[in-house]
Amino acid sequence: MSYIRCQVCGQRASIRMRQHRLNYCKDHFLEWMLKHTDSTIQKYRMFGRNTRVLVAISGGKDSLALWDILWRLGYHADGFYIDLGIDEGLDYSSQSRQFAEQFATSRNLALTVIDFKKEYGESIPTLAARTQRGKGKPCSICGMVKRHLMNQAAEQGGYSVVATGHNLDDEAAVLFSNMLGWNQTQLARQAPALSGRDGMAGKVKPLFRCYERETAAYAFLQRIAYIETECPFSAGSTSISYKHLLNQMEDRSPGTKMRFVMNYLKAKEDGFFHIENTNGQDEGLHPCPVCGQATSNPDMCVFCRTIGGTPPDKAYR
Ligand SMILES: [Zn+2]
Ligand SMILES: [Zn+2]
Repeated sequence: MSYIRCQVCGQRASIRMRQHRLNYCKDHFLEWMLKHTDSTIQKYRMFGRNTRVLVAISGGKDSLALWDILWRLGYHADGFYIDLGIDEGLDYSSQSRQFAEQFATSRNLALTVIDFKKEYGESIPTLAARTQRGKGKPCSICGMVKRHLMNQAAEQGGYSVVATGHNLDDEAAVLFSNMLGWNQTQLARQAPALSGRDGMAGKVKPLFRCYERETAAYAFLQRIAYIETECPFSAGSTSISYKHLLNQMEDRSPGTKMRFVMNYLKAKEDGFFHIENTNGQDEGLHPCPVCGQATSNPDMCVFCRTIGGTPPDKAYR
């Protein structure tokens, strides 16, 4: 019986990546993931060997795979986990926190944990229900809180770069959504690496050229234990339906998602969009009088306004 062979050693392949025209056995796939990620880091000048990098850890496969890869490559990468208090029914936060802590302990890595409910007196779902008067999902508030706390942790800990586990499927879904709505500001801003500025760490996505099935295969083959359930609030989200659509196109024509994202970046570089590439450098920013983080709001930043303008002293300067 014939089977597909690893193109390096000729043994039976564990993974076939039609989009890259590559087939590898387990060991050569794991090796390829390290090289592929390292070349992304270098090509997009994300960070150097001596940069202190803060990795946003969710307890899911992508962020833990990223942390594992950076650790194996010898980068100085510490983890940051936010316990959002999403525990109704499924114990989503407590379980994902356990996976994050287990991972850090097993590799002797530094993980900072922020327990949002302990620090700010209420969980994300409760905060969202209160400030949105019970309407809608907590996802946008949750995203805003995570961005704010990541920035704060990076600044307080002296990290110049924050790395997230976004993969190619995530990037393609966001791009698809922004293009459907011709959201010019977001289109100008979407990038694998945004440089930092005063009071704001740089943001990088070292796995943005990896398909989700590759990060999943990496986590599985590397025996990384991670939370497999998605956040209960993500069910039925538009980004999930866009991912399904893009996967249908990918099945018919392998490489579609990769071309979509990479050719977009190329078009942007070539000036196709005729919009200023802000690279995150917004105009009119000033420090929030409560927390000190840069904001374009006339008074305090969205985070401080949302949580009521009375944050605990210890988290602030
Ligand atoms: Zn091989
Ligand atoms: Zn603030």
